[in-house]
Amino acid sequence: MKVKSIRGFHDILPENIKRWHLIEDAAKYIFELYGFSEIRIPVLEFTDVFARSLGTTTDIVEKEMYTFTDRDGSSLTLRPEGTAGVVRAYIEDSMHAKSSISKLYYTGMMFRHERPQKGRFRGFYQIGAELIGPEEPASDAELVAMLWRFFEEIDLTQFLELEISSLGDQNCRPQYKEKLVGYFSPQKNELCEDCQRRLETNPLRILDCKQKRCKEIAADAPSMLDNLCEDCENHFDSVKENLDSVGIPYKINPKIVRGLDYYTRTVFEITTDQLGSQNAVAAGGRYDGLVNELGGPATAAVGFAMGIERIILLQEIALPEGFGKDVNVFIAHLGDEARQAAFTLAFNLRNKGISVETDYATKSLKSQMKRADKLGASYTFIIGEDELKKAVIKVRDMKESSEEDIKLEDIINSSDKFKS
Ligand SMILES: [Zn+2]
Ligand SMILES: [Zn+2]
Repeated sequence: MKVKSIRGFHDILPENIKRWHLIEDAAKYIFELYGFSEIRIPVLEFTDVFARSLGTTTDIVEKEMYTFTDRDGSSLTLRPEGTAGVVRAYIEDSMHAKSSISKLYYTGMMFRHERPQKGRFRGFYQIGAELIGPEEPASDAELVAMLWRFFEEIDLTQFLELEISSLGDQNCRPQYKEKLVGYFSPQKNELCEDCQRRLETNPLRILDCKQKRCKEIAADAPSMLDNLCEDCENHFDSVKENLDSVGIPYKINPKIVRGLDYYTRTVFEITTDQLGSQNAVAAGGRYDGLVNELGGPATAAVGFAMGIERIILLQEIALPEGFGKDVNVFIAHLGDEARQAAFTLAFNLRNKGISVETDYATKSLKSQMKRADKLGASYTFIIGEDELKKAVIKVRDMKESSEEDIKLEDIINSSDKFKS
């Protein structure tokens, strides 16, 4: 019996890794321009960290966490998302004492026991950012602008829409919740089982339900945006003004609820119509109560996370097949002496930053050219007996389908032209 991977877990194979690097490099580049530093946190935390931050009535905590008892009896959980762990680290490492503003980003694997489907895995990767400290609306807007700039950097905004809303705060949300309960209660029996329960525990989540009847009923429910207190309304207006001032396009969607309890005020999603019903590729919002909830000082914060696998699916639509195959040079050689020359030349060119492949064994020119093609080499160098005698290399430009003899020393001296 062959070994195999766990259902819902996947390998990212070398032929796809360039797509991953493109995304990760763009995130690092853009986020660092905005002053964010990477933080690396453990994949395993005490269960409490997630239960307390995500809320015990959320789907993640109720049904999706990988939780087990450690040898000493403590309950541990594989992280289902990144924010709780980052906030735990923020508190434990007293970051608030070092600076009034902490800008952190992370990337790594998350774990949720969900039903696997296209682009949804149980072991999946997220990139996220947390801006902890400021409560001013300019920080929400900066974070959202940064996220949009990231998607511009990887050329995907043509498929995307930015949606924003506000969930209010502890002043106005409780009253709004009561209004919602008042609205849904007379129709309780028509709601799905989950929503009947949500009516008691977390009525906002009904707005988020994917069941047809629940959606129909929710369509006419009162909107949070019509029930914001003055402070929340001013905050939301200012976020919008800031986004307008830098030309970030957005749509207001009062139905954004987010699955997690900890959000306050600004929430946002980046959605696409390219990937079926599961349409969010990035999501986030303000979570002013969380640091305090986990035992730290009362501290404002705003953040987002995005699933890399979903972005990869979009990228596959946007970028041509064969993307990421980019060996600069393949050196084909004919005969033992030429093979030795190819070995030396490959070494010297790599020292100059050119990516080079060549065969270890002496093979037919045909099979070597086949491999050059497969590797997507931009140039193929051919070294045969003739070329060795004349100290030249036959250089084939694979894109132009042109060929010329170039002196070996000229190749080394002007190697930069083979970089693309
Ligand atoms: Zn429902
Ligand atoms: Zn409010």
